[in-house]
Amino acid sequence: MPFKHLFDSIHIGPLKIKNRLVVPPMGTNFATPDGYVTQQLIDYYTARAAGGFGLIIVEICSVDPLGKAIPNQIGLHSDEFVPGLRTLTDAVHANGAKIIAQIHHAGRQTTPEIIGSKPVAPSAVSCPSTKIVPRELTAVEIRELTEKFGDAAKRAENAGFDGVEVHGAHGYLIAQFMSAHANKRTDEYGGSIASRMKFPLDIIENIRSKTKKGFAVVFRFSAEERVQDGIDLQQAAVIAKMLENASADALHVSVGSYGSMQWLIAPSCVAPGYNVHAAKAVKSVVDIPVIAVGRIDDPHLADSILADKCADMVSIGRGSLADPEFPNKISEGRPAEIAPCIACEQSCISYLFDPNVGKISCLVNPLTGNEGMIKILPSTKPKKVMVAGAGPGGLYVSWILGSRGHNVTCYEKQAVIGGEFRIASLPPGKQEFSKAIKYYKLMCDKYGVRFVLNTEVTEELIKAERPDTLIVATGSKALLPQIQGIDNIRFVKAVDVLDGKAIAGHKVLIAGGGAAGAETAHFLGERGHQVTIIEKTEQIASDMPAGVRQFLMEDLVKYKTIMITGAQITKFADNGVEYEKQATAILDGFDTVILALGTEPYDPLGADIKQLVREYYIIGDAKKAGKANEAIEDALRIATAVN
Ligand code: SF4
Repeated sequence: MPFKHLFDSIHIGPLKIKNRLVVPPMGTNFATPDGYVTQQLIDYYTARAAGGFGLIIVEICSVDPLGKAIPNQIGLHSDEFVPGLRTLTDAVHANGAKIIAQIHHAGRQTTPEIIGSKPVAPSAVSCPSTKIVPRELTAVEIRELTEKFGDAAKRAENAGFDGVEVHGAHGYLIAQFMSAHANKRTDEYGGSIASRMKFPLDIIENIRSKTKKGFAVVFRFSAEERVQDGIDLQQAAVIAKMLENASADALHVSVGSYGSMQWLIAPSCVAPGYNVHAAKAVKSVVDIPVIAVGRIDDPHLADSILADKCADMVSIGRGSLADPEFPNKISEGRPAEIAPCIACEQSCISYLFDPNVGKISCLVNPLTGNEGMIKILPSTKPKKVMVAGAGPGGLYVSWILGSRGHNVTCYEKQAVIGGEFRIASLPPGKQEFSKAIKYYKLMCDKYGVRFVLNTEVTEELIKAERPDTLIVATGSKALLPQIQGIDNIRFVKAVDVLDGKAIAGHKVLIAGGGAAGAETAHFLGERGHQVTIIEKTEQIASDMPAGVRQFLMEDLVKYKTIMITGAQITKFADNGVEYEKQATAILDGFDTVILALGTEPYDPLGADIKQLVREYYIIGDAKKAGKANEAIEDALRIATAVN
């Protein structure tokens, strides 16, 4: 039987779990600012339990309000939170999954804006991310915090959780104690590995003293912190054995800290399962179950990790955001229908830290976070729908409308579907994006969407087809700002270089250093071109998710890319530009000038649309040039609005 290892039951201590598939803790920010459970939070977790996951590990729950890492962090620092959490655990249990709470203190990895005071830590060593120097905890305070972890675990038990996961990973407070990178103490809590482990081991002992036999205790830690003096695999083996001896029931083996943020949630340029070797190393020294995590986004990979005995369970993190039904679709024999995580980081981690959004979702599946609020219901009056454009928005709106029973035809002026998704999959390390096109097409086919390629939707076509509803998802086109010389020079567009429609010479100038320009530079740098980027803002690729950008910038430096920032182009010539940066300067001698100066809506029907069809919608870039996730969210809104 394919994927058979995924569906064997397993015990974590006395806790029996029906399969090996875990939703790991991921901060959603769905709780209230005071830390109370919301219906949104319940709906989100319940969907994953109903989707077949055996174990749900609920995101960071605070043991102390001064240890919050995100504004709307779930609270476990007071009995007031227990009734709401009971509603959550009841809902998850009713759908067949076990549920445990991750108990957490951020230590130095937070800000005064979030907690209202200076962060605390084992030592006054600045956080590599926030640069804030924390206040060193006293030994008395450390003992108080040990009690708080135990108290929080007891509250979790009272709220119906089957156990807790102690968050000793990712550079948070417990990890700060465990790691010589952050712990410079000379008392009983610092120095040797045994002393650095005193705090976490005391916490486990405290939890055991306050909870009943049978309450599971999982410990999560980073087996490779990838920072100077941080935990490495050799230390991880010692730590794992100490945790097992201290009665931990399972180990959840992660990687990284805020000092190596790009490894916490690795983007598409990092190989799937990039952390499995660490889980395997830990598993080789302990007898308790080991959970692997880190871009395990594919059922074949998940099954092989278990088959090869690299781990005992697999965490499907972002994969569970992309598809809460990941397990059910495997067990029902339709794994191809799993919505893929493409490791873009756009709507999960980027949204979480975007002050204008502040909550996670998923680019591929914008229903994430909206489970109780948006329902895909059958249409009461199926319509003939014409969709113009088979890019991200057009494909998504087509399959959702098709699934609701509408009669959908999607027109694409090019010979292939995918639009911006297809172009996005061409730079180095971005090939995962093509999985989204494949998935959307599969779903379109499942629901009978017809495709007509090499055909632009025109007035004549609309008059001939007479649709009830027209959805314009024609995307965007390159923006050519009115800068002197732009109309007279020979230039090529970045998108055409990526698509193979234009050939760049050896020495290349890219005008515009946003994501499109930077990725084109990456693409050309990898092929040996000598690339210069000129960008008007102070940072290259500032519109990219931080983790994606970090890896990209490392490669641009490796390829000796010249990056000129804070420079306003004032004039174009065939072989270069004139620009202002403090003073006027000239860049010339280039074989090719490539434009990547942004995009603007491409809507060929314009205002005529009103006379052509009674019900019409303009979505995504065709309405306002933006990102793919915004186009897909727009598509969802319209796909549910058409009745
Ligand atoms: Fe994966 Fe992107 Fe969805 Fe995040 S937003 S879960 S990275 S597909």
